[in-house]
Amino acid sequence: MDLDLKFESVHEGILVSGTAHVMVTGECGRCLDPIEYGLDTEVQELFFFEGMGFSDGEDDEEQRRVEHDSIDLEPVLRDAVVPLLPFQPVCRDDCEGLCSECGVRLADEPGHHHEVVDPRWAALADLAKPDRRDDE
Ligand SMILES: [Zn+2]
Ligand SMILES: [Zn+2]
Repeated sequence: MDLDLKFESVHEGILVSGTAHVMVTGECGRCLDPIEYGLDTEVQELFFFEGMGFSDGEDDEEQRRVEHDSIDLEPVLRDAVVPLLPFQPVCRDDCEGLCSECGVRLADEPGHHHEVVDPRWAALADLAKPDRRDDE
């Protein structure tokens, strides 16, 4: 994770803003190909000095604080990045995934399909032998 952040001292605390560049790695939920891509996200968070910004007292948990002259960026970054991660990552939006019959990657085999779709027809196909033109 690369960070390009700016820290500004403001009246209530420290304002952190900038961009986080994150490399996301995983595997495609359809074809199991490895996935790796970069993600940029804007980060902006105000860290309150102790004693500041708690007038409402309702959402303490939501408010970041400057503690012992330092701030903890990790939860901020996590909150910024996690919502951007796909629930089921795919290598491409139109990834066709794997053939349910033989497991081949459909992207590697354009037009790949199997003659027999319904197992009830398989027996018939064996008997009748599908029309094949071998005389090309
Ligand atoms: Zn894929
Ligand atoms: Zn197949």
